[in-house]
Order: sequence, then C-alpha cells, then structure tokens
Amino acid sequence: MKNSIFCALMFLFCGAVWSQQIKNNKAEIDAKVSELLSKMTLEEKVGQMTQITVTIFEDAKKPGYFDAAKLKQGIQDYHIGSILNVPNPGAPTLKRWQETMQAITNEANKTRLKIPVLYGIDAIHGASYTAGATLFPQQIGLAATFNTDLVKRGAAISAYETRASSIPWVFSPDLDFPRNPAWSRMWESFGEDAYLSSKMAVALVDGFEGNNNVGSKYSVASCMKHYIGYGSTTTGKDRTPSIIPERLLRQYDLTIYQAAINAGAKSVMVSSGEINGTPVHASKHLITDILKKELGFSGVVVTDWKDIIYLYTRHKVAESKRDAVRIAVMAGIDMSMVPEEFSFYTDLLDLVKKGEVPVSRIDDAVSRILKMKFELNLFQNTVADLKDYPKFGSAEHIEEAYNTAAESITLLKNNASVLPLSKNEKVLVTGATANSMKYLNGGWSYTWQGENSDTYAADKFTILEAFQNKLGKENVLYTAGADLEKEDDAEIQKAVELAKNASKIVLCLGEKNYTETPGDISDLYMSASQIKLALALAKVNKPIILVLNEGRPRLISNFEDKMSAVVQCYLPGNEGARALVDILYGDVNPSGRLPYNYPRYPNSLEKYNRKYTESISEGEQNNDAKYEKSYSPQFEFGTGLSYTTFVYSNLKIDKTEINNTDEVNVSVDVTNSGTRAGKESVLLYLSDNVASITPEFKSLKRFEKISLKPNETQTVKFTLKQKDLQFVNEDLKWISEKGSFSVQIGDQKKDFLLK
Ligand code: BGC
Repeated sequence: MKNSIFCALMFLFCGAVWSQQIKNNKAEIDAKVSELLSKMTLEEKVGQMTQITVTIFEDAKKPGYFDAAKLKQGIQDYHIGSILNVPNPGAPTLKRWQETMQAITNEANKTRLKIPVLYGIDAIHGASYTAGATLFPQQIGLAATFNTDLVKRGAAISAYETRASSIPWVFSPDLDFPRNPAWSRMWESFGEDAYLSSKMAVALVDGFEGNNNVGSKYSVASCMKHYIGYGSTTTGKDRTPSIIPERLLRQYDLTIYQAAINAGAKSVMVSSGEINGTPVHASKHLITDILKKELGFSGVVVTDWKDIIYLYTRHKVAESKRDAVRIAVMAGIDMSMVPEEFSFYTDLLDLVKKGEVPVSRIDDAVSRILKMKFELNLFQNTVADLKDYPKFGSAEHIEEAYNTAAESITLLKNNASVLPLSKNEKVLVTGATANSMKYLNGGWSYTWQGENSDTYAADKFTILEAFQNKLGKENVLYTAGADLEKEDDAEIQKAVELAKNASKIVLCLGEKNYTETPGDISDLYMSASQIKLALALAKVNKPIILVLNEGRPRLISNFEDKMSAVVQCYLPGNEGARALVDILYGDVNPSGRLPYNYPRYPNSLEKYNRKYTESISEGEQNNDAKYEKSYSPQFEFGTGLSYTTFVYSNLKIDKTEINNTDEVNVSVDVTNSGTRAGKESVLLYLSDNVASITPEFKSLKRFEKISLKPNETQTVKFTLKQKDLQFVNEDLKWISEKGSFSVQIGDQKKDFLLK
C-alpha cells in the first residue's frame, strides 16, 4: 500500500515537473522568436513564409543533385524558409538525404541570420521517401487495427526513420473524413467514423512528436491535413466541391482536428477543396476564426500544393496571382507551398509595401514558423548523424510493421470455416494483385504515385512470394489470371485449368497504386477484367478465398456470393503479404475490423451511423411492399471475424438515471469461447433515442482491443462522459437533451435516462 502511495506521489510530482518544464521551454522559445523577429527585414520574413519544392533546385544534367546557383538563389536571394518533396528519381538513401540536407544547411548558414530551412515530406506510412525504410500499412489499415498503442509505436518508428533521413517534418496524419467511398484518398484517412479517427489522430501525433517532445532527435513535427472537408466531395473525385453544413463540420470533422490539436500537433495543411462555394484557402472564417481562434491552434498553417495560385487559375475567386496571395494570407495562411516558382514572395512583398497586407499578419505567420523551428531544435540539429540511428530499417522495426499489418487485415467472411488453410492442400494463387509490391504499398511509396515499389522493395514479399516462402515454390500454383484493366481470355483460361488441380483458390483482386487526381474513378465496381476472372473461377466449383488489396471498397456484389471467404488487406505495406499469408494459414488469428461500411451498390452509400430514415425496412409500412431503401451494406463498419469465437455477457451500467453532470460507468464480460487465442476489439455504441436533431442509429463512443486465451474472460470497463451524450444543434452549440440513451456492446444492450 505504502509503495503504491509513494508511486502515485512520484507520478504526480514528475507530471508537475514535466508540465513546468514545458511552460519554461515555451517562455524561452517565445523570447527567442521575438528577438529573432525583431532583427528580420521584411524580405527575410516573407521568405520564411515561402516553401519551394526541392526539384526546382536540381541540376538539369544530374537529377537528384543540386545546381549550386539555383539553391543559392532560393535560400540567399529569396530567403526561403522551407523546402519539400523528394529529389528525382525518388527515395534517396540515408546517405544521400544527409548530403542533401547538408548542402541546404551550408547555404542557410551563409545567410545573415542563419535561420535553418524547414524540410517537409510525405512520410505517410513510414519514411516512405527513403530507400530501405520500414513501410507500414497505409492509414486505413491503421484504423482497422483498433489498436492505438500499436499505431503510436509505429508512428514513433516513422519519426525515427524520418529524422534519420535528416527530415524534421511529416505531412501526416491525414484527418480527412471521407463521405464518399470512391474518393481516391479514402485510404489515406482513418475511415468513416469521427471518434475512431480522433483516437487514431492522437496516436499518430503522440508517436510522431514523442509525446510533446518534438525537439528530440527521434521526433518529427506532424502536420494535420487537409483542413477541412477535403474528403467529402459530392462527386467523389479529388479536389471537387463539397457541400457541408457547418453543423456537420462541427459535429464530425472539427472534433478530429480538436483532438489532434490538444495532443500538440505542430502544423496543419489546408484543403485544396471548396466548401459551400468558398475555397478553404480563401476562408478567414475557417482558418482564422475557427482553427486559430476557436480551436486555439498556435502552430503553422501551410497551404497545399500550388493552392494559392489555384485561387486564381482554378477556383476563380481571385483576379490575379497577387490578389490570390492577399486573399489567402488575410484568411490566415502562414506558409505557401508555392512551390515551383517565387511569385508568392514577390507578390506578398509588394502587398505589404503597399499596405494591402499588414505587417502584423506577417509577424504572426513568421512567429509561428520560427517557433516550430526552435521547438524542433533545428538551430542546433539539422543534419542527422547516422550513428544515432542504428535501428533504421532494422528487424525490430520490420517486426512492428508486420504486427501492424497482421492486426489490420480483416476477415470479412469465412463460410464453413474454409479458412484457415491447411499446408497439405494445393492452392492456386491468382489475380492481378497477387504478385506486386506496388499494389501492397499504394501511393506515396518511394514516389508520389508509388509506381516503383517493385524495384525499391525488391527484397520484400509479394503475396505470391509469401506463399512460396511458406510452402515451397513447387507447392504453389500461380498464374496472373487477369490484368487490372485489360481483359485477357487466355489468362483466364490458364487460371481455370490450374484451378482444376487445386483444392482451393486464393483470388487476389484490387486496385492499381494511386493517389489524388490520378486515382479518380467513375465506377466504384471492381474492374470488369477482374470480375470476369472471378466469375470464370467460380464455375470450377472449388472454394475461393477472395483477397482484397485495395485503397477503397470496390464493389463486389456481382460475384461475392460465389466466394467462400473474403479477406480485406487494404494497402498493408512491405510486410503485408507475410502477415496475410500467416493469417490465411492460421499462424496468426485475424483481428482487424472494417473502419467503414463496405457498400453493396453504387447508389446505396449509407454510413453505419445512418439516420433512421435511411433504413426503413420491408414490412414497416404495414403492407407487403419491399423497399430498396433497406439498409444492407455488403459488410458493415466494425465487421471483423476471428478463428475463435467471443461471447459477450453481463453488460452493466452503474446508473439507470443520471443528471447533466454524471458519468456513466459501463462494464461487460468478454469470453473467448473457442479453441484458439485471439484478439477482440470491444466496441461500445451509443444511441440517443430521441433528439431535436434527428439522432444517429448508433455511434461509436469507446473501443478497446483485448487478447484472450481460450476460455478466458475479461471484464472490459468504459466511462461515458457528458460530452458523449451531446450533439451540435441548429445554433451550432454542443448540447445534450433529456431522455433515454441505449448502450450497445456486442449483442448486449442497456438503457439509461438523462433527467
Ligand atoms: C497533397 C498533399 C501533400 C502535398 C505535398 C499535395 O498534392 O494533396 O497531401 O502533402 O502535395 O506533397
């Protein structure tokens, strides 16, 4: 007892010392920022706000290497504060990154004030622009793990390997809240639930920034993106307009940002889209009034690629590039990802000189940028000493990426326990995604679109190679069977013939590597060439295990009933195929859960937290009519099977009536009633049964992933707070209303009353 009191006191003491330390550091950094700012010329200040892509400084004859005169011009003449992106032809080695950063630092050290250049990169699933880095599953897979500790550890590894590459700033996490599953960046998000997204956002920010210790040589500054409403386009195509009432932005999207800001996220990137007719880059309401003032964000606001120029050339809300700069800076932009020329610098300078942008706005922006540079310790530490990073690409890091993939892969269907496979049976591995690293990794891998993963990750296993590695090459039948797009009847025939000699078929379907506009689609169905292969194989009458390797849910309703099992592996990264094959053979028990509703039809894109009017079912109207309106996704959010079974019992809530200050304590017993050890994500849903804004059918409020041995029972406890009972009303205020609420965990349900 004494011991535990001592530990508790020590904990409080250490906590108090730590928070005092943070306050001291903050005061110290604020003082340094003011001092430096007071010495800067207007040109130097405007330069700090300018971010340029590294490739424009390259030597035309020697891609990947600097042209000294160009670099000098950028850093000395234009005083640029930041550089981004990857040198040609993509993914330099650690050594090359070190040399690149040394050249930039040397140039910055020749300037009057020697302000370090802030380098930013799209390291969105590991240090994905560095050769030999550990690549994790893409974000949608992280969400599917429902395991925030695991995700946080992975982010810390990404931070370590990014800093090893001398880069202190990552354009991650993606906090987009996609409302249309066809969107080409669906897989960069955490899926369709705001609560799950905010928990995962905090895990990534804490992992990247080392729990508020961003100055460490193993941490990087995070960048929340893309603020806000980017993933919600009406058309489902990238960078097209969104219509989102502010009530809904507040109810969902903003909660994710607020959670990441509270965790200390250092920067934010603005969405390239428009909401209700206003491009976000032009919205003072969204950037200054809501993000900076209301949400209290004190970090750096950076634009997305070329987005100030696009206010003029695409959105047509500005009369010229110069006008666009004025609009965006006055809306609250601190740094412009210009990024291929210097017009932002010259235009902004002119705007300030002519009094169209006040110096106070410039000082605010530059202070934020300098603060981030001091917090990152860039004045001391810009170029990595490779000796400090012995674990870069190590077995230990690879193991974490494997574990993350293993916990993300989601078993959606397993008729007659066709899985796990037995090592004694002959399998045919086939399908367009069966033998490719680029489909496993997706975009933002080594290059923007990820087209070179097969070269950079040649030492990693494709799905086919992982099978061959496990069973011996001679024991695996293989043919591609289909191309992603082109129909090939001869290949289909080959697959059908081979299938006759196999006892089971592992059919790997999915999508090409893509991101952004190149990934736009007009048809959410799986491509015709792949459907044709699936239907031809189904005629052979052997059990088919469908493996989905895709960034978004491509519809499979026209052949899914012919599949015995369905396994979603998302974009699981370099270690994904090994994890997948271990799951297929039962060496790992699957535990991923779907972080979105997998639609059945292109015109039925309901979310799991639908409104009641979206799920009127047949018979409800007291007649025999059958309605197409029935809610029937192919697979619902939260679906995820295991090779064992879990039984829920004994759901308890400590109060059946509460007032508007009470918390509700909930507990439930979860038992592994099967014969294998397994992991289970316990999901707590809440329904507000009557409310003045039509309530959601149910919404996720808590989750916890537990491990159980056969016959083991664990009591899982959750506490619901008043905020969990609230929603945003017509006046844009968070409120709760009296009445009954239902708690649901597994098949257990209990009600309580808010008086
Ligand atoms: C993307 C961002 C990315 C930026 C920098 C843009 O095209 O939308 O997500 O961070 O480029 O590469």
